[in-house]
Amino acid sequence: MRDEKKYEHKYIYKYPWLEGGREIFEKDNESAQIPTTQLEMKRKFVRLFSQKFEDYPQLYQKIIQAIYSALDKREEGMVISEEEFNIVFFYVIKTILAVYNNRFLDNHVANFISKIYYKDMSSHKRNYREIYKIANYMGLKCQYNEANPKKIRNTIYHYSINFDSYIPAASLLKDNFWAVINRFMENGVVYLFKDDVIRLLQEKIRREVIPQRLGNMDELREIVEKVSDMKEILKKIDDKMQLIKIKLREKREKQGYTLLDDEVKPGYEEYPPCIKVILDKASNGENLVHTERLHIAFYFANTNHSVEETVDVFRTVPDFDEKIARYNVEFSRGLKGKGKKYSVYNCNTLKSEHLCTADDPKFGDPICSKGVKKKGKKYFIKNPLEFSFWYRVRKSKEKRKSKRHNSGDEK
Ligand code: SF4
Repeated sequence: MRDEKKYEHKYIYKYPWLEGGREIFEKDNESAQIPTTQLEMKRKFVRLFSQKFEDYPQLYQKIIQAIYSALDKREEGMVISEEEFNIVFFYVIKTILAVYNNRFLDNHVANFISKIYYKDMSSHKRNYREIYKIANYMGLKCQYNEANPKKIRNTIYHYSINFDSYIPAASLLKDNFWAVINRFMENGVVYLFKDDVIRLLQEKIRREVIPQRLGNMDELREIVEKVSDMKEILKKIDDKMQLIKIKLREKREKQGYTLLDDEVKPGYEEYPPCIKVILDKASNGENLVHTERLHIAFYFANTNHSVEETVDVFRTVPDFDEKIARYNVEFSRGLKGKGKKYSVYNCNTLKSEHLCTADDPKFGDPICSKGVKKKGKKYFIKNPLEFSFWYRVRKSKEKRKSKRHNSGDEK
């Protein structure tokens, strides 16, 4: 029994979001009293966090390293340990994310941490049991069939997950690959490989990192800044985020005027809304459904974007795998497989796939939603490739209008 308890603790240290992890983090060595007023709660917060930075002198550096790596999309700078430090690290990071309330930061950090866990879970060849245990701790009703694995058409499945817990977990991945219709299911259980279970866990971990926000985050920042190490960390993140914003703006401006092989390559502004929305999701580190990935791959392949530029789009999505992404991008251009280059999906197909975002509040555009005037008649574009043309038509009309206006010529 004593051994079993030790074993359980190891899991809480390693996977701090499990029950008991937060309690360990919030353990107050100086006062056993539960704070009852707002002021007491604030004092406890400052005391607790200041104490953590005193107890773990490496904490400051480790937090900065991890957040910088996440923002720079490098998979380094974080080691998962089975010690209390791991719990402290996790809850400090989560508090920082809560303060920012920023989708971009949330997703980059959550993807970074969940990828490190994915690697860790995949790296131990003999850890079948650990995966099964952690899956159950995280709400997947998982069975590990060591002695009697399921054999289906010469394929051996060691894992199975009950249908009722598989569905909500798989739906988080937003990809047909995980649809029950594409899995082998029998008697209410879905059979899976170890890597499938790890991928489902990775997504669950990703969501554990993103905080649920309650209350006023500006107020939280004020309290957090009373801890001097936290204040410095926030300052460094502010600077880093600012730098990223500037670089992104420069990149988009540059893309707006790029020419390739004497053919015009549309710049960011000239992308249709359905492409902009997917790019926004990808750059914010969100999962993309399969057709969204294909739409980007086909559109970029047909608009003079390089393989490298296309692969780069997918770098920030949670399940990015350089080899697979590159293969798929090359495949869509006919450089791999049957040598067939795919055309861009037309607007009707995109509408039926719910990928038309003509009315999107942020990226929608009247060219798509209201149509354009062609030969005196209203015309709705039929293919996303037409968007850039009509965008340029509108731009040059606006330019002419403003020229006339400046020269006082306007009627
Ligand atoms: S109308 Fe066509 S180009 Fe415009 S958002 Fe919809 S699918 Fe994309």
